[in-house]
Amino acid sequence: MSESMINVFQPFVGQEERQIIGEVLETNWLGKGRFVNEFKTEFAKHLNIEPRRLASTTCGTEAIFLAADLFEFNSNDEIIVPSISFVAVGSSIIAKQAQLVLCDVDRRTLNVTAACLEQKVTKKTKAVILTHYGGVPCEMDPILDLCKTHQIKVIEDSACAMKALYKGRACGTLGDMGIWSFEAGKIITTGDGGMVYLKSDHLVKDAEEYLYLGLGSNEKGGIDRSTAGNDNWWEIQIERPGRRAIMNNLAGAIGLAQLKKIDRFIARRKEIDQRYRHELAGLPWLRLSPPPEKHCEPSYQFFWIQLNKRDELARFLRNNKVYSTFRYWPIHKIRYFGQKETGLSNAEFASQHTLNLPLHPALSDDDVTRVIDLVKAFGSKV
Ligand SMILES: *Cc1c(COP(=O)(O)O)cnc(C)c1O
Repeated sequence: MSESMINVFQPFVGQEERQIIGEVLETNWLGKGRFVNEFKTEFAKHLNIEPRRLASTTCGTEAIFLAADLFEFNSNDEIIVPSISFVAVGSSIIAKQAQLVLCDVDRRTLNVTAACLEQKVTKKTKAVILTHYGGVPCEMDPILDLCKTHQIKVIEDSACAMKALYKGRACGTLGDMGIWSFEAGKIITTGDGGMVYLKSDHLVKDAEEYLYLGLGSNEKGGIDRSTAGNDNWWEIQIERPGRRAIMNNLAGAIGLAQLKKIDRFIARRKEIDQRYRHELAGLPWLRLSPPPEKHCEPSYQFFWIQLNKRDELARFLRNNKVYSTFRYWPIHKIRYFGQKETGLSNAEFASQHTLNLPLHPALSDDDVTRVIDLVKAFGSKV
């Protein structure tokens, strides 16, 4: 067999990205500036929100750590997190000496539910960081109701849920803060990059300051300070400590080119999802990820299956040049976090039975056929 490896996640870039990078190089302003600002404006259009609600950054992880700063997580706080979350979600809480409180997820969707959260709410609960697993929206209305009742902040990790809709509204804009990632495996990429959504002007301003040296952005969304009408532009003052975690024009430009294609990317992902769904249906040893609810439009970041011999299938696929994986290894199984697995039976089940199959717009129809045939061939052996 001379077939090439099929990746589980992969970016899709081409001539448009090459061209716009050339344009950035010609401007000779590679740092944060016009291209980042345009990217933010266009991204906001896709989410049907105002651009001033957004701040760009270097990656999704930075955006998650930013949440802990903005909402001032501290040692008096409990933060509830579904155990099936990205590792940095746990780290961002531990880094503030806040209490990491894990909750369970739905066994099939791997999403958190209001019922899972409710079991863990106490007077000390300050925030919930939820993940729209694989781009399928969590059932948000009951979650938002619960959190409103108990005055809990809702942070949506929407890294997988770009342009996913819950009752017509974009994931990441439903709670108090949303975060997105433009890492190379996501729906669109900027190489590396991230974005946050915040509900007020003052939080966006605070965010911009944390992300740029305490200084924040200029009125054009860039960092150039020589044109702000200040004759002594080298004299600075800050109101808070700040890192340097800003998106640059090269990343912003790639993002602009990618955004032009995002709807096609998602449509192609949906097509592949449907093929898996139809052609792997009815196998008694295999369970497919649940189809989306009528009031939800996913972004199709992941397609996943559940089976008893998950590990064997993953190795069989790898031996046949198809990568698959399981996201996200539960936080309760990462020893560093020192968490008990009591009451996390669905997360535990999911971590032992779930496999993410290749899903990205660069897959050809033949690639998808190959994956399907291999899964069926594995089934005929078990
Ligand atoms: C990719 C991802 C992140 C992290 O984003 P980076 O840009 O890689 O830091 C966080 N959460 C989820 C759910 C992700 O898929």
